[in-house]
Amino acid sequence: MARIVQKYGGTSVGDVERIKKVAERIKATRDEGHELVVVVSARSGVTNELIARAKAVCEFPSERELDMLLATGEQETIALTAMALHGIGVDAVSYTGAQAGIFTDKVHTKAKIKTINAKPIEQDLKTGKVVIVAGFQGINDDGQITTLGRGGSDLTAIALAAAVKADKCEIYTDVDGVYTADPRVVKNARKLEEISYDEMLELASLGSKVMQTRSVEFAKKYNVVFEVRSSFNHNPGTIVKEEVAYMEKVVVRGVAVDKDQAKVIVSNVRDKPGSAAKVFRALADANVNVDMIVQNTGRQGLANLTFTVPQTEAARAVRALDPVLAAVGGGQVTVHEHVAKLSVVGVGMRTHSGVAATLFQALADAGINIDLISTSEIKISIVLDLDRADEAARVAHAVFNLDKA
Ligand code: ADP
Ligand code: ASP
Ligand code: MG
Repeated sequence: MARIVQKYGGTSVGDVERIKKVAERIKATRDEGHELVVVVSARSGVTNELIARAKAVCEFPSERELDMLLATGEQETIALTAMALHGIGVDAVSYTGAQAGIFTDKVHTKAKIKTINAKPIEQDLKTGKVVIVAGFQGINDDGQITTLGRGGSDLTAIALAAAVKADKCEIYTDVDGVYTADPRVVKNARKLEEISYDEMLELASLGSKVMQTRSVEFAKKYNVVFEVRSSFNHNPGTIVKEEVAYMEKVVVRGVAVDKDQAKVIVSNVRDKPGSAAKVFRALADANVNVDMIVQNTGRQGLANLTFTVPQTEAARAVRALDPVLAAVGGGQVTVHEHVAKLSVVGVGMRTHSGVAATLFQALADAGINIDLISTSEIKISIVLDLDRADEAARVAHAVFNLDKA
């Protein structure tokens, strides 16, 4: 007998027929004698729909009320999943995040999990119940409902797996596992048998939305090994785990594309100590997540500062910079939304050289222009024109032979 945490994503519980299929899968695992905690997302599309409705009634909805609203998406699917289980004779109970003892900080819409009181769940598991928990939500110390950021059901599952000391954590989704690139974009992308936390973390944060970034951070911190697999078939998935020595033999593990980026240029700032500090302090104070930063020195002691931000934060960045422009010597802010970020990731880059040269040559041969570049130990990212992003992903995938094992 093992203790297993399973998470079913939005497509997997997308309608009542699929919820019934998920219930059958849960029953099969339960029938093998395992203890089971199941995390479910809202039906696919529901969270987006709820956000759109919030914006339709109020341009800037209160984040507390937004969390109140968004949490309903998962509340629907936990109840339906529990009912579907009852319908096939499985004892099950549904819990909201609060009922499951998931305590978070107070940051509405992207709360962090602080602690989990797993006692109620443990009690139910002892009596043989399957426990169904609403993903993506928790409660803060003031008793307010919070949500954990988009894709946050992954985090719920991984945090619960750590809290109940699960033997296994399985993330069921609409693809067979983690691929060398988004299989919807790169047709010959290959499913990986395993991938290290660090590689998964980079891929996730660079745009591969198959796993929520923070859930992978959490898994790494608490050493939760998990498997990403399909809820529509029984193929083995991808194991995400601590790096092992042979993983460095592969130079590039995967390619990620992020199309939700905007490029911001602050032009004609005084090329003096303190200018960059003022610009980025203002952005930090406004909670803008700045990523790639490039500074070009121009003429007459003036420089341009270019950086990328998530598209949803571009307007906030512009607003935050307005008051500091005078202090850095005038200048203007322009935003370019027609950009994307392409990245190649692999722990093997630590020990292999020439990766950047190979990537840049392949892009050049395809006539794809590189706008910005940034590198770290295990990744190379470039910013390019949005229209060429998918093609660039295929070019990068091909030049590193990622379709071959
Ligand atoms: P869920 O609703 O189950 O959480 P998501 O839509 O959040 O599912 O994530 C699954 C999707 O992630 C897939 O349908 C796929 O298009 C996309 N994806 C992006 N990059 C990758 C990748 N490298 N491997 C697998 N899937 C990827
Ligand atoms: N329903 C939430 C979202 O769409 C959480 C999740 O699906 O993981 O972001
Ligand atoms: Mg997801």
